[in-house]
Amino acid sequence: MQKLTDHYQQLLGFPATWKVDDVNLSVSGLKIEVHLCFVGDEVLCPKCGEHGKVYDQAPEQRWRHLDTMQFETIIIARIPRCQCETCGVKTIAVPWAAPHSRFTLLFEGFTVSLLQHCSSVQAASNILKLDWHAVDQIMKRAVERGLMRRKPDNVLHVGIDEKSFRSGHKYITILNDLDRSRVLDIIEDRTLKGTKKLLETLSKQQKARVASVSLDMWQPFTTAVTKLLPKADIVHDRFHISKYLNDAVNKVRNQESHELQKNGDKSLVGSKYSWLRNPENMTISQRARFDELMACELKTGVAWGLKNVFRDFWNCSSELRGELFFTYWCEIVDKSGLKPLVKVKGLMERHKDNILNYFKHKVSNAVSEGLNSKIQLLKATARGFRGFESYRTRILFYCGKLDMYI
Ligand SMILES: [Zn+2]
Repeated sequence: MQKLTDHYQQLLGFPATWKVDDVNLSVSGLKIEVHLCFVGDEVLCPKCGEHGKVYDQAPEQRWRHLDTMQFETIIIARIPRCQCETCGVKTIAVPWAAPHSRFTLLFEGFTVSLLQHCSSVQAASNILKLDWHAVDQIMKRAVERGLMRRKPDNVLHVGIDEKSFRSGHKYITILNDLDRSRVLDIIEDRTLKGTKKLLETLSKQQKARVASVSLDMWQPFTTAVTKLLPKADIVHDRFHISKYLNDAVNKVRNQESHELQKNGDKSLVGSKYSWLRNPENMTISQRARFDELMACELKTGVAWGLKNVFRDFWNCSSELRGELFFTYWCEIVDKSGLKPLVKVKGLMERHKDNILNYFKHKVSNAVSEGLNSKIQLLKATARGFRGFESYRTRILFYCGKLDMYI
């Protein structure tokens, strides 16, 4: 019968210079410890790759490996240090783990896979029976690996999105590649300096080839794009404009609800989301509730109608038709006298050219919305977040389309 050490030698498949010396099985502790020892004559310098002599052996180290059956499996070894004529004494690289990692490459690869399917560090750490920080570190290394491997491909259509982060007025700004539906990078604020830094993550060649940038009407974004991507068209697309319009409808609702409640009328209380949904996305009961609200002939209903009618702007067949639609829409908003809406209309008029740029590029709205809701979900499962870096790691892990496998 094959000896247990030989069996593990075969299972692990490491080079012959690493010999399985001993295998300790603890049935009660559900643990297997595999001791390896280096039996080669020569080693390679990890810095310059030249052959060198074994100087000594570093103290014993342990790496968590994939489980054998239900047994947690640990690899234990002392790593030789190489005496290199040029670089001095250096600890060599081992074939089963990345430098400074407490896990084997196979274990890290499995964890990356598991995290992709669990969508939270806590869930993965429960399955692996590994502490939260260890899984978090594996995720961080995976993202670093993915970013290192990412090629500076052309990105023709990009999007800049802001998102609130933590309570109060803290924001993050996200740079998206709209053609490949992926997040390129994230910074912690939404200032001019920060946005410039974000755009600087693109290479010189990438920057020169960006054709359009979708963003909202926040001035620092526009200024940063004009300075760093002078050839790109700025597009205020449907996704970004609808945020402003929804916000205006909500303000009208708030003011009106306040006035109505003074007279004991609670028609608008708790109706916020009814006004944010599009009719085609309402359930039968939501539609019934909405129709009841509309029948009350409220100012909010008018605001909602004006917001909703603007959706047809994006379906205009040409820039010229779009411009006519836009002008007419602005006139009727003016006539409505609804201040929050008139204010947004003014902002839109000042950015009219960039709104009309939509007809030149027609970038997909679905990408920004899709990434946005994915990031929103991450925030919801992010109870353990320690700060911005942690959030950035998660966004890039789940939305960066990075090559993170070992
Ligand atoms: Zn060397």
